[in-house]
Amino acid sequence: MADYRGVMASETPVPAAEADNAPEQLTFADLGLDAAVLKALKDVGYETPSAIQAATIPVLLQGRDVVGLAQTGTGKTAAFALPVLSQMETGHKNPQALVLAPTRELALQVCEAFEKYAAHIKGVSVLPVYGGQGYGQQLSALRRGVDIVVGTPGRIMDHLDKGTLDLSELKYLVLDEADEMLKMGFAEDVETILADTPADKQVALFSATMPAQIRRISAQYLNDPEEITVKTKTTTSANITQRYLVVSYQQKIDALTRILEVENFEGMIVFTRTKNETETVAEKLRARGYTAAAINGDVAQVQRERTVNQLKAGKLDILVATDVAARGLDVERISHVVNYDLPIDTESYVHRIGRTGRAGRTGDAISFVTPRERRMLTAIEKATRQPLTEMSLPSVDDVNATRLTRFDDAITAALEDTAAIATFRDVVAHYVAHHDVPEADVAAALAVVAQGDTPLLLEEETIAQPRFDRDRDRAPREGGRDGGPRRERDARFATYRIAVGRRQRVEPRQIVGALANEGGLRRNDFGAIQIRQDFSLVELPADLSRDTLDRLTDTRISGVLIDLRLDQGGRSAKRSDRPQRRPRDRD
Ligand code: AMP
Repeated sequence: MADYRGVMASETPVPAAEADNAPEQLTFADLGLDAAVLKALKDVGYETPSAIQAATIPVLLQGRDVVGLAQTGTGKTAAFALPVLSQMETGHKNPQALVLAPTRELALQVCEAFEKYAAHIKGVSVLPVYGGQGYGQQLSALRRGVDIVVGTPGRIMDHLDKGTLDLSELKYLVLDEADEMLKMGFAEDVETILADTPADKQVALFSATMPAQIRRISAQYLNDPEEITVKTKTTTSANITQRYLVVSYQQKIDALTRILEVENFEGMIVFTRTKNETETVAEKLRARGYTAAAINGDVAQVQRERTVNQLKAGKLDILVATDVAARGLDVERISHVVNYDLPIDTESYVHRIGRTGRAGRTGDAISFVTPRERRMLTAIEKATRQPLTEMSLPSVDDVNATRLTRFDDAITAALEDTAAIATFRDVVAHYVAHHDVPEADVAAALAVVAQGDTPLLLEEETIAQPRFDRDRDRAPREGGRDGGPRRERDARFATYRIAVGRRQRVEPRQIVGALANEGGLRRNDFGAIQIRQDFSLVELPADLSRDTLDRLTDTRISGVLIDLRLDQGGRSAKRSDRPQRRPRDRD
């Protein structure tokens, strides 16, 4: 990859100081896309093209071949789907466009994306064709005629061999995740398809890596391709603690609510990918009793400023924003940034988390990562040169412990208002004198009145958190036999318990700092850190020497002796779930 040359697409983050007179953002309309496609983009709520889209779309619209170095999560699907849809003629019997993808999962995703972006183009038909699915459905659709076929190479070859797929009118061929296709043994199929389709077709090849075999294929079968890669040169500030949480899309709102309950936050920005989602999330947070507002590119500047001023003044605690709307925002109160959706490039990540940790303060960034986005997480860590610490979903116990602590705090604060206490003491004394009820029960009854309809404690409700294995650089494979990705516990690590937690307002950074200093540990010696209400669980090397253990046991964090000891199971036990590796299916 080091010698990879070509067009560098770069999104320069706007420094905070330039925020409000930031240069105009490039829009999808600037790229020359068809009006019907632009309309669909408005519906889905994307604000601006991602770096790979901005660089690729104009080149594809000029009719040139492209080799794009891009990973999942960068918006590469739209980078090829939008120009194909903008240029194609519909209604031919034989397909005009073919997308080859390594897995059934990706093929289906690409189909869905095409359908979404083609919502306002009449009569476009998209067909997924992959192994494992019966031929009948595919055959009848092919007989009726389709415009775009998205398939895995093996099954496409089967149809070509049987004469059930006619690619003689093909105008656009896309190879998606080309390196993956080769790794899975599809090289020959891919080359046959490249060679046996019309010579004047336009080809776009996307790959996360650029091995020699792909260079050779692109030199042999592509016509003077423009090489496009996204430049990532970024660093993040050391005063920001960066964590991530593996969640499924459906769990995000519950996960966010639990985080809001247990984190000590002052002001927060929650980033979503689309404008529509900012509104939805803000609405759901308001329904759960938080002061939250949405800002996005469609919100008028005056309204945006009003909202930001409310955040500054503490009248509002949570802003749900898109990248564009939050560009350059400089509000000291923002203690937390939550990436509800990961951004589409690493520079946006750096820009987003830079909204916290302002004016020399510390900040917290929490990123929601769905199991499919593992690679984007790795890309972020590589680009920022900082590993992110995995956190687990706050449990019902964590949430309830925080609620009880807050309840205690509220009582303590109320007791300080001596005048009010004197008045109510008389009221209570009067009640006790006239009813045969102990004072403690009266206090409890008053608490019930104060609590209203909201239960004090959360009911036990388990959310099965998905996991992934950080060491496995593979997306889930075709076949889908297991129940979802899991995190494989690294055998090098053991889980230790330390006697400081959320109650002591301890942060992962302090734990790493203290243990590294006292025990002479390095960054690589730390695995996941989970902060609970009264204790924390830290993964450290299983083979720590007696001497190191002794020194660590005597360590203090925030003045508290941490009493480090091996964790005997309990709540961390679920982390040792056996991994279920997927067999690699060929199609
Ligand atoms: P991909 O890399 O193509 O798998 O896209 C990753 C995700 O980003 C998908 O959920 C897309 O819907 C979303 N996406 C693609 N382009 C944009 C954009 N310009 N703005 C916001 N989200 C986008």
